[in-house]
Amino acid sequence: MTFQQISNLKSNIGTTVFPAIPSAYPSMLLSAFHQLGKSQWWTPEQIRGKQFQQLNHVLLHAYNNIPFYRRRLKEAGIKPAKGITAKKWSTLPFLVRRDFQGKEDEFLAKSIPDGHGELSEIKTSGSTAEPIRVYATGLVHFFWSAFTLRDHDWHKRDFNGKLASIRHIKGNKAQYPGGMDMKTWGDPVQTLYHTGPASALDIKRTDVIDQLEWLSRQKPEYLLTYPSNALELAKLTISKGLTFPSLKELRLMGEVADKKTLNICKQAWNIPVADAYSANEVGYIALQCQEQGNYHIQSENLYVEIIDDKGKPCAPGETGKVVVTTLHNFAMPLIRYQIGDYAEVGEPCSCGRGLPVLARILGRVRNMLVLPTGEKYWPSSGSLALPNIAPIKQQQTIQKDSEHIEVRLVVGRPLTREEEEQARKVVISKLGYDFKISFVYLDKIERSAGGKFEEFMSELPQMSTSR
Ligand SMILES: [Zn+2]
Repeated sequence: MTFQQISNLKSNIGTTVFPAIPSAYPSMLLSAFHQLGKSQWWTPEQIRGKQFQQLNHVLLHAYNNIPFYRRRLKEAGIKPAKGITAKKWSTLPFLVRRDFQGKEDEFLAKSIPDGHGELSEIKTSGSTAEPIRVYATGLVHFFWSAFTLRDHDWHKRDFNGKLASIRHIKGNKAQYPGGMDMKTWGDPVQTLYHTGPASALDIKRTDVIDQLEWLSRQKPEYLLTYPSNALELAKLTISKGLTFPSLKELRLMGEVADKKTLNICKQAWNIPVADAYSANEVGYIALQCQEQGNYHIQSENLYVEIIDDKGKPCAPGETGKVVVTTLHNFAMPLIRYQIGDYAEVGEPCSCGRGLPVLARILGRVRNMLVLPTGEKYWPSSGSLALPNIAPIKQQQTIQKDSEHIEVRLVVGRPLTREEEEQARKVVISKLGYDFKISFVYLDKIERSAGGKFEEFMSELPQMSTSR
């Protein structure tokens, strides 16, 4: 913690501010946060050893309380009461979304140990994928808070500053032009610290130019938004020659941020950009360290494996499926869960932290383009964008089937036949295959329920594999 962060700690005793004496729950959070401050420097072997101790508890609990896992573990010849070895672990089949989609209640543990707090429900949504429900406990939220504190610590954020966020907000309370004003940064920071104010703007009804106008009035130190939105804000900031002198850092959330987006954002505001890789159903997966910009796996929260097509762990430089096991969710543990993302394993980070490194997070399976030749790749942000053939305001590219691509456009006027022909050629050359291309004109391309905008989506059946 920085001097400023410690100085802002709330004391439960009004006459004792130095050192502060936090009340019970904040003290527990601080305790967890301080342990994270130590364990991040352990060796990979030390971290893995502690993870397997915790995994034993998860497996035994799942075996005793969830019939699906009892069957699975028996079939794999694993007896949780005897402890699990890394070798045995690697024989356990992967869990995929469709294993529990629509039958979430069968994955709710019959009993939850004391101390795990209240049961709650988390809904996840995707733009093409069906939503799933996941049950969580108070302890899951507790750890979410502790890792949020770690993220603030790694990036040395000044809690006295103003935090502005532009994201999906339920209801009508944060509409342009006013947005929503708050006195604090909200949980978990305000649980522990005195903070500056915050404000929020609902993304789904606010044009990018209006967002910039709102930001110029807010004068925040920190801006939190989705990568696709940040990219548009950055481009407009550059083209209009705007400046936001108060801004200290851009924080990204909710979508995969590629290198191009990160670079344009840095260029637009000349500030550090911090990305976080998380998913509703499992919490924080990886956070970026300030020193190198590497993504460090949050090993105290999850056991994360990056697995190649043959089911083997990837080495640095290799890309594979992200497979996640929750270490603290005893309401609905997810064990060897293929979350649907791909990531590239990185070399150990020069910052010295022992937490494993991901060099890149790649798109979801549904963001992957598949050529009829079987080749597949993730179109990077903006790579499918049409040049200025016509006034195009918004674009989304959809793979309908193995031969057919739909280009959705929001335009000032429909394209002429010649312009469509020109656009078709551009798309085909960018995709590297002679797809059948159709154009669909829309008034607006909506973000998904979670506020995400996906530039490319595939409607091909999901190619997740279950062994
Ligand atoms: Zn690092």
